[in-house]
Amino acid sequence: MSDMYGKGILKGLSVSLKRFAETYLDDLVWLGRRYNNDKGIAHRSSKEGRGIFTVQYPEEKIPVPEEFRFVPFLVYDEGANGEKTLRCTSCGICAKVCPPQCIWIVRSTDPATGRPIPDPAQFYIDADICMNCGLCAEFCPFDAIKMDHDYELASFKRSVYDEAGLSKSAGYYSAIRPVNAKREDAARAAKAASRTVRVE
Ligand code: SF4
Ligand code: SF4
Repeated sequence: MSDMYGKGILKGLSVSLKRFAETYLDDLVWLGRRYNNDKGIAHRSSKEGRGIFTVQYPEEKIPVPEEFRFVPFLVYDEGANGEKTLRCTSCGICAKVCPPQCIWIVRSTDPATGRPIPDPAQFYIDADICMNCGLCAEFCPFDAIKMDHDYELASFKRSVYDEAGLSKSAGYYSAIRPVNAKREDAARAAKAASRTVRVE
């Protein structure tokens, strides 16, 4: 048993030693370019990056991967004349599945009939409670709510975002999550095409 523990400790120490040596090896390979140019930063944050390094935040930021998740935003599409249409239909699914219950939605109603219409009258997310789990984005049937990459939201005030504060364009979404956006666009186009065929 003690032999087993001894081997584990040695293995752990060898990993630390390897990382320590690699730090200086990578510094030599990138001599003077590892910390102050975009290629050096990209290399350090890639799978090929070795050793230990310090990020000079906020001057320097490591790019986040596509699947990185921070407080969600609402996606809107832009029309030919620049009009913005939120994809949200205020179905309420995201609010139901949100584990800490930090989404608040009020559905719009038709003033003439009083019947609900698929458009949010109010949409709030309490970012101080949101735990960035991404369930709202996973469950939304309309690709209307997506997880953001913007993590610089620290504030001295309570961070409750309304519809205006949460809205970002579909173009922004495509820019931060190109693979996901492309796949979802294709799925929506295929669904629309199948609907058209059925009508004919
Ligand atoms: S964001 Fe999606 S799930 Fe949430 S209310 Fe709007 S359409 Fe429904
Ligand atoms: S990411 Fe999770 S916690 Fe945050 S609003 Fe969505 S479901 Fe709620």
